[in-house]
Amino acid sequence: MAACPAPGPSPEQAWLADAQTFIQETLCPTGKEPNNELTQLVIDCVKMMWLSQGENQGFTLPLSYRFVSVQNLKTHQNLPCCSHLTWSSTAYQAWVQGAGPNGNALPREQLLLLGTLTDLSGDLEHERPDGSLYVKDNTGILGCELIDLDLSWLGHLFLFPSWSYLPPAKWKSLEEGHLELWGAPVPVFPLTTNPEPLAPIPVLYPEKALYLLTHRMRRQVQEANLAGKLIRLSALIKSQKKEYFVLTLGELSPTDSQALNQVSIMVQIPAQMVWYRVFWPGRSYVLTRLRIAKTRRHHYHIWTTIPSSNLMLLKPDCVRELELELELGLGKPSLKDKPKPPSVPTKSQNSKGQADLVRHSRVLHYSGMVTGVLNESASLYLLDGQLILCLAYQQIRGLKRMIRPGVSLELRDVHLLHSVGGGTTRPVLVPCLHGTVQLRSFSHQKPEILSSHQVHGTYLYEQLVWDYQLGLPTYLWATKALEKLVCKLCPHVLRCHQLLKHSSPGNPSLALQLLASSPDVLTPPDSPIRNAHSEILEEPHQCIFQEYTQLQTPYTFPDLLTMMKEGQHSAWANFDPKALVPLPESAYLTSYQINRRLAWSWHCVLPSTLQPAQVLVGVLVASSHKGCLQLRDLSASMPCLLLAENSQPLADPRFIGCLVRTERFQLVVEREVESNFPSWKELTMAGFIQRQQTRVYVQFFLTDALILPVPRPSPDASTTSAPPQTDSACLEGQSRLFLLSHKEALMNRNFCVSGRASSESPMPTLSFHVSGSWLGGTQRKEGTGWGPPEPLGSEKKDQKVFLIFLGSSVRWFAFLYPGKVYRLIAPGPPTSMLFEGESSSQRPLELAGCVSCLTVQDDWTLELGRSQDTPDVLEISRELPKSSLTHLLSDKFPDSLVSFSAKILSRTICDPPLTFRRRQPGNTGTVKTCVKLTVALEIADYEFTPHLNIYIEDPHLPPPIGLLPGSQVHFSQLEKKISRSSNVYCRFCSSTSIQVLSFSQQTRVSDPLPHIYLAELLQKGQAPFQATTSCHVVFIFSLQIMWVCAHCTSLCPQGRCSRQDLTCPTQTAISQASIRFLVEDGTAEALVTCRNHHVAAALGLSPGEWTFLLDCVRVSGKLALHFKGPGAESESPARIHEPLTLFLQTLCTSPSVLRPIKLAFELTRRPSDVSPREPPRLQQFQCGDLPLLTRVNPRLQLACLSLQEQEHSSTLGAFATSC
Ligand SMILES: [Zn+2]
Ligand SMILES: [Zn+2]
Repeated sequence: MAACPAPGPSPEQAWLADAQTFIQETLCPTGKEPNNELTQLVIDCVKMMWLSQGENQGFTLPLSYRFVSVQNLKTHQNLPCCSHLTWSSTAYQAWVQGAGPNGNALPREQLLLLGTLTDLSGDLEHERPDGSLYVKDNTGILGCELIDLDLSWLGHLFLFPSWSYLPPAKWKSLEEGHLELWGAPVPVFPLTTNPEPLAPIPVLYPEKALYLLTHRMRRQVQEANLAGKLIRLSALIKSQKKEYFVLTLGELSPTDSQALNQVSIMVQIPAQMVWYRVFWPGRSYVLTRLRIAKTRRHHYHIWTTIPSSNLMLLKPDCVRELELELELGLGKPSLKDKPKPPSVPTKSQNSKGQADLVRHSRVLHYSGMVTGVLNESASLYLLDGQLILCLAYQQIRGLKRMIRPGVSLELRDVHLLHSVGGGTTRPVLVPCLHGTVQLRSFSHQKPEILSSHQVHGTYLYEQLVWDYQLGLPTYLWATKALEKLVCKLCPHVLRCHQLLKHSSPGNPSLALQLLASSPDVLTPPDSPIRNAHSEILEEPHQCIFQEYTQLQTPYTFPDLLTMMKEGQHSAWANFDPKALVPLPESAYLTSYQINRRLAWSWHCVLPSTLQPAQVLVGVLVASSHKGCLQLRDLSASMPCLLLAENSQPLADPRFIGCLVRTERFQLVVEREVESNFPSWKELTMAGFIQRQQTRVYVQFFLTDALILPVPRPSPDASTTSAPPQTDSACLEGQSRLFLLSHKEALMNRNFCVSGRASSESPMPTLSFHVSGSWLGGTQRKEGTGWGPPEPLGSEKKDQKVFLIFLGSSVRWFAFLYPGKVYRLIAPGPPTSMLFEGESSSQRPLELAGCVSCLTVQDDWTLELGRSQDTPDVLEISRELPKSSLTHLLSDKFPDSLVSFSAKILSRTICDPPLTFRRRQPGNTGTVKTCVKLTVALEIADYEFTPHLNIYIEDPHLPPPIGLLPGSQVHFSQLEKKISRSSNVYCRFCSSTSIQVLSFSQQTRVSDPLPHIYLAELLQKGQAPFQATTSCHVVFIFSLQIMWVCAHCTSLCPQGRCSRQDLTCPTQTAISQASIRFLVEDGTAEALVTCRNHHVAAALGLSPGEWTFLLDCVRVSGKLALHFKGPGAESESPARIHEPLTLFLQTLCTSPSVLRPIKLAFELTRRPSDVSPREPPRLQQFQCGDLPLLTRVNPRLQLACLSLQEQEHSSTLGAFATSC
């Protein structure tokens, strides 16, 4: 039989034992004997509170509750909680409901908290009370807040029946949590109330106090006790030197004449800072032993407290009004006795032009509940769901920790501002130092989980307000802009706290540098400077919120994705087929021609033209997948093209990973359109666009941008995906300098990858290679620099090298340019012969025969060689390679490689130059496309720049970015070709590389054409490609007008396509016309071909006459006239008697056609034959009876670009010069 277990202690006994231990350890004065009296008092106090609630279920002790010390709360309570000893569960449920529908109420814990209320932090070194309040026990001290403090509570031990505890938020792990004490605490010892004073205290009411102040009657009253009703309380000012606040007392029950009697009292004794928590507007107080003092800087006279001053609530029985023997008539105070406020010029008087933009705020009292946190670090909250509350202009650190949704605030003497602009739409309530913000009830809710931009940067925002003195509209805009920057860059580019770090001497804030290019953007030089004293004391009130101007948003920081989308949107909104293929030219184009012309176009967005302007901010990265430079933020990566300065590329890889900010850039949108417009008539209908796509990129000059190195991520940031850094900080490594002479195209190449089955075909891999020569031998890492180069054998001098870049090392593509010296760096322990050639295992097939060939490894890095690195290579040519003009333009040496700089005149989509021209009608989709660039060569000492066509075909499509009309580009190693008509053109090939020298300045490129004599075209080498001339039409050779099908170009008699199978989708006929005639200008003669609408100009017909003529031809579909020498018969005798033919024959021989004209033309034969191949030949003429033998130049062949009537004066001029 087992023995009965000894009965354990009852729950009550166990609880009491625990309580006793706790009280001895935590609350009894340390180092003293156990104090049973205290223990009993505490337990009695707890019992009393416990029994005061109805739901104690017969238990006399709160057995479910346990005592908690301050230290335990701080170390173990990691979640916000509340504890309400006296609350029934129904009361708690009702309270939970009060937290709002989201059910985010503080969870209830059953904890008993006791402690001493004090305003001393216990930190002896910094023992200067600043108005903060604490709960203290033997284990520690914890900041607390109380809504209505009684000064007599300080220093006493209390049981706190109702409280909530808020631990520090995660991001503030260094800070401490705080207590919110609900309701009045319960004293453990009965409080000894101050005995009523034996005699009533003599007091001055505001009227007399003011009178003394005004008349400086300090000698009469050394010290006085002031009494009155609190009508205003300033903010609590905390500066490095001292803390103070100002309260204003008015008459207890003012009559009309006394309504203006207000007296301000400054409290600046540290021990009295806790009074700030006692004052409650509307209550009446007595402050004792006040003196009149003069403020140091502003010479205001003001009543101030002294250390022995006291504060008490006014009890009418305990005071009597002090009788003053005043000689002056006190009964009749007049306004003119009052201190005159210094007159402050108002802004609206200064700037009349802005007068209508200047707004005035209203000063008011407001009570409301915080419903949202807009930005905690910027002290921006939402009040009652409608108003923005900005608390940044008061130092409210203590108050701020309580403010979260659910908190009730009373705001007194705060400014209400409407329409502040800068993107803020709600009205804003902002207290200046003159007004006050007081807590009226604590929040039931748990703190919200805030995003990182809402919690970092408190010091930065304070700096904006207190150091940069930002006005409210600018401050609100700046907080929004900074939030946007955080969303763009954090956390992947850099940590939020790194971005929002405040400025310190020598360490300017990253955020501020991104925010504004200069501080003047934020604070104009004439903006007012705040002064706490005058803001509080000046009457009438003056502060920066009284007048404000609606802010025009200076600029925005859109994320790159938005920027690209807006660019695309703008590009398509501006896409106008009728502008790209304008009339009258478009009326003569076939459907194929029209659709080809629409196939590519571009649109440029300049940020300065946007309202508000946009600032480009991103991190520069070199893509190891695409080999291009990109600007990156969290939303997107945007390709970018950078020039260090005009015609200088960005060649320094140190810029990788830097933050870039620029206000000047071009956002380029290249549009590609697949369309099937049947003819020009349908160009307004969008339905014929089948597919459209864009390529968006940005181009800018480095000199226009702010480049900021990104701080290294903090050690905890293990998951950072920061872009690769190009530094040589590693301890070991070796490097070698090389001079780059040529870079080849970045494209997919076939590589023989060793270790694979030989049956596998080589993998196409994105790669490029460069050729160059080593400068000296390998160098080893020595400290932070490089050791001397290893000596080279004499036969190894000037060693040529091919470097192959593939895999992730294609990221260097954007930085490598001919003529520059680079240092190739391999990290890790030195390996001999590392930079010597390698086996041919990984070479591209096309380099298989090369001797010295090196594959750049993924972990190798590149640096731009510094000038001191290359002292002995000064003779290196830094010029870009250029082919000689004769080599370039002669019709010999086809398939050779040429290099030159040129300006792009136009870019179109066309058929590849050597494709079989006979297209299948209606089969446009299968035709291979090709990009044709027409460029004007840039050749020094050349008056007229030759033009050249460059074709880009697969696999070089899409072309590199930056090839836009108007750009200047250096083309390196293009393949030169000769067409069947002996014209020179060029093609991109695998060795081709380009370097953009300057950006296009406008969308449309037009050079005024030179005006020349025709004979100048015959001069060797100096002829323009396009020009204008004044000449005379001598003779018409032929005229042809046709109506053809816009789809298949078959003849269309009576407007119907004559094609047999009738498969043309539309029956749109277009007219096409051409005329060939001879002109001479006295220096030479030329055969000119005019087409389409230029034919009307050549015939001198008005638009109406021309349309009528075309309509006449429509019936037969075709009209062709040929003339045989001057005076000869036409070649089409069959129809010679038709009236139309007769008319045209007469017209073409009449002086209205054979007349002086101004002709713009281009040479039909391209620059390959700028020098005439045929020498002038001798020709015999009959001049009267005399045979005349003269040299005649070969006839020039010109194509008409435009034709205008000769102006009368220039006719004379041409005639005079030609004589
Ligand atoms: Zn104000
Ligand atoms: Zn047809």
